[in-house]
Amino acid sequence: MLRSANIIGSGPNGLAAAVTLAQRGVAVTVYERNPTLGGACCNAEVTLPGFHHDLGASAFPLGLSSPFYRSLPLAEHGLRWVHPPASLAHPFDDGSALTLEPALEATVAQLSPHDGRAWRTLLSSPVRNWPRLIEDVTQPLLRLPSHPLAMAAFGVPALCPAQLLAGALFENQRTRALFAGVAAHSVLPLTSVASAATGILLAAAAHAGGWPVAGSTIPGIYGAQAISHAMAGLLQDLGGRVLLNAEVGHLRDLPQADVTLFDTSVEALLRIAGPELSAGYLQRLQSFKRGPGIFKIDYALSRPIPWRSPACARAATVHLGGSLAEIAHSEQEAFYGHPSQPSSARPFVLLVQPSLFDPARAPAGQHTAWAYCHVPTGSNLDRTQAVEDQITRYAPGFPECILARRASNAEALSAWNPNLVGGDISGGAMTLRQLLFRPTASLYRTGNRSIYLCSSSTPPGGGVHGMCGHLAALAAWRDHGSA
Ligand SMILES: Cc1cc2nc3c(=O)[nH]c(=O)nc-3n(C[C@H](O)[C@H](O)[C@H](O)COP(=O)(O)OP(=O)(O)OC[C@H]3O[C@@H](n4cnc5c(N)ncnc54)[C@H](O)[C@@H]3O)c2cc1C
Repeated sequence: MLRSANIIGSGPNGLAAAVTLAQRGVAVTVYERNPTLGGACCNAEVTLPGFHHDLGASAFPLGLSSPFYRSLPLAEHGLRWVHPPASLAHPFDDGSALTLEPALEATVAQLSPHDGRAWRTLLSSPVRNWPRLIEDVTQPLLRLPSHPLAMAAFGVPALCPAQLLAGALFENQRTRALFAGVAAHSVLPLTSVASAATGILLAAAAHAGGWPVAGSTIPGIYGAQAISHAMAGLLQDLGGRVLLNAEVGHLRDLPQADVTLFDTSVEALLRIAGPELSAGYLQRLQSFKRGPGIFKIDYALSRPIPWRSPACARAATVHLGGSLAEIAHSEQEAFYGHPSQPSSARPFVLLVQPSLFDPARAPAGQHTAWAYCHVPTGSNLDRTQAVEDQITRYAPGFPECILARRASNAEALSAWNPNLVGGDISGGAMTLRQLLFRPTASLYRTGNRSIYLCSSSTPPGGGVHGMCGHLAALAAWRDHGSA
């Protein structure tokens, strides 16, 4: 019978593990090294007073759809999903843009008749089956799906490389670019097997529920922090607690508990619990691979970004990468490039402008935004100019809007949150192999019945959805003979 648990790390997965166990009567304590809870799901004033920046995640298609989050009364604890009119905008050099709209047909209507039909064929089944599909894809993949037909319809195209699928399905370069940008959230080369899966999943999410940003109904809590704050509030109601400024360096730092769950990197698990783990398990962990890093900039802006295409002001998330060929090149370089080698002058840039839809995040009329590009793992090169050139390409006048910026390379990101090893925000490369065996075939289990891994280095992987933590906690609960 499981009575007590220590959890190292208060990211979305640490908090989800904590809530899952506390709901079952387990006495839970979460240890967080930072002064703020939430891991890469938090918000802080890091540029100018009154500008509240999401330091990590900012757009939440998976958070909105997460089966675990949906089971929780997060709204009662201050979380408010804020839905922009469109999920995503992808601008082009001629001043036009494509958008991912809430209604599938509203996106289809923007495409050529051929590509519209192909978009509908690719996405109508995942959109129609969304609640069933999301249940299956947020579970470990090596199991019989609960909804085999929905999974089969998704799985066949999803296993393709995104570049191949886009080239085969769409005749227009703009449609190919739109799909490539969504698929690039996989942080994989677009020639990789299964890179299309992310593209299909996130595009379906846009049509099935949207890509909201997070808002708060609690004064003093902003943006992504509202998700973590709501989870911590729920935990507190269930009798659990979170200790901040509590870095765990050794297992002996922790009080005795039946189990310890690590919402940490694989590297930290090795460092902290290595002597308690079998040689075989340690060896299997050695082959777990990191994904590319990111170079991120937080902006305080004097006014909304002056996009050439007005459609870009309808979405919180904007993809700045031009064509499929450009995006594919940028992602290839990030995955295979050397950290010290300067890479593409035109990187694929992901930008989120949440204050357009959640004005509480900045002084009246002013705005916050973040933008990042993928870079080779561990790269500390300054990519500020390349990122800003890409924004300015679609929003001339952008530099004049910048009141302040804070740039973070891999070193700065991992100093803030040590889970971001080498700047990798996904907890390890999201290759097909590492989606199946994440970080090993035993998934959350380490071979030691009192130690579990529950971070995004376990299935289903990166993103704010809490499912890694929830499933790791259920594994621990079951292993200890609890029904
Ligand atoms: C810049 C950025 C942008 C992102 N954008 C999005 C997005 O828009 N949408 C989305 O869904 N996802 C996004 N992500 C990914 C998402 O934030 C992560 O996948 C998610 O936060 C992983 O949750 P986690 O609980 O596994 O780990 P984390 O959120 O990394 O939390 C781990 C926590 O453990 C703590 N910790 C680590 N070691 C110790 C220790 N030894 N002792 C005590 N505490 C420790 C850390 O301080 C941290 O608080 C983004 C991430 C980043 C960094």
